[in-house]
Amino acid sequence: MKIKDLIKPIEAFAPLSYQESYDNAGLIVGKYDTNVDSALICLDITEEIIDEAIEQKAGIIISHHPIIFGGLKRLNGNTLVERCVIKAIKNDIALYAAHTNLDAVEHGVSAKLAERIGLKNIKMLKGMPNELLKLSVFVPLSHTEAVASALFEQGAGHIGNYDCCSFSVEGTGTFRGDENTNPYAGKKLVLHSEPEKRIEVVLPKAKKAQVVHALLSAHPYEEVAYDLYPIENMYNKAGIGAIGTLPEPEDELSFLEQVKVLLGNGVIRHSELRGKPIQKVALCGGSGSFLIQAAKSQRADLFITADIKYHDFFLAEQKIILADVGHFESEQFTCEIFRDILMKNFPTFALHLSEHSKNPIQYL
Ligand SMILES: [Zn+2]
Repeated sequence: MKIKDLIKPIEAFAPLSYQESYDNAGLIVGKYDTNVDSALICLDITEEIIDEAIEQKAGIIISHHPIIFGGLKRLNGNTLVERCVIKAIKNDIALYAAHTNLDAVEHGVSAKLAERIGLKNIKMLKGMPNELLKLSVFVPLSHTEAVASALFEQGAGHIGNYDCCSFSVEGTGTFRGDENTNPYAGKKLVLHSEPEKRIEVVLPKAKKAQVVHALLSAHPYEEVAYDLYPIENMYNKAGIGAIGTLPEPEDELSFLEQVKVLLGNGVIRHSELRGKPIQKVALCGGSGSFLIQAAKSQRADLFITADIKYHDFFLAEQKIILADVGHFESEQFTCEIFRDILMKNFPTFALHLSEHSKNPIQYL
């Protein structure tokens, strides 16, 4: 299978446009047209992981963290990153990463952790701003249903848990084609009035190309009149972090102990306990201190994340428990996301979950 086909469902799930500006997700080493027979999935790329790919005859390694992050100025094998890249190229192994774009989707890294911890009603902790567009299009009455369903099919018209959301109003459109036209209604060079509906839908920017393509295919006019404009509403199907509730309130200490066992933690660093049961839990896989305020304002009893700095623990202020469970530990289920997407789309393609993924941090 060509690499471009293999990664298509991953990028449909976690669009590259969702990655943070500092990130480097996508195909990092290799060519889109190369054929691969199997893939190795891991969290981080190391030399051992590349050896594993060679052993498994995997033509591509799919990781969460991008191997090249801050740029490379030379490739002389002095650093781990340089050695990994050299080894991958020498062995014809492509390197691909889905990082902050996989953090930013509804069923991404944090939702996976939330699921494993046993949360219900899982939502994004913080939605994505500036991601929604409004599309309004003028459609002759004969084609309103066909156009609307084409838009819905491509993901336009989703609001919260509702799909097929649209608004339409009837009116009259006018047009006159020049001598090079072949109008769907009326005659060229003659001013024509046509009963039309103006249909409005919202859509995420990431789906703009496919929605516009569907619109142009389903609409009967040679020149389709439509407006696309940005709206300021928060998009809640993408963003960062996750929040959900436990089916029953749990004792804070015993719940933290359960989390510790589930994640195989050496240790959990946490702020002062509050002597209250825990039911609403916010979390963010990886470094999520920037979401402490969001977790507090959503009145979560506990915020689970990683890489919390000393001073950040003061932000708990007895309003929330902050728990640092470790970066590797909080993202360890991420490989399952890649596996599930690829297995669903390519059930016979050979996939290996790395057996050499390891936490670079050790606990005494
Ligand atoms: Zn991470």
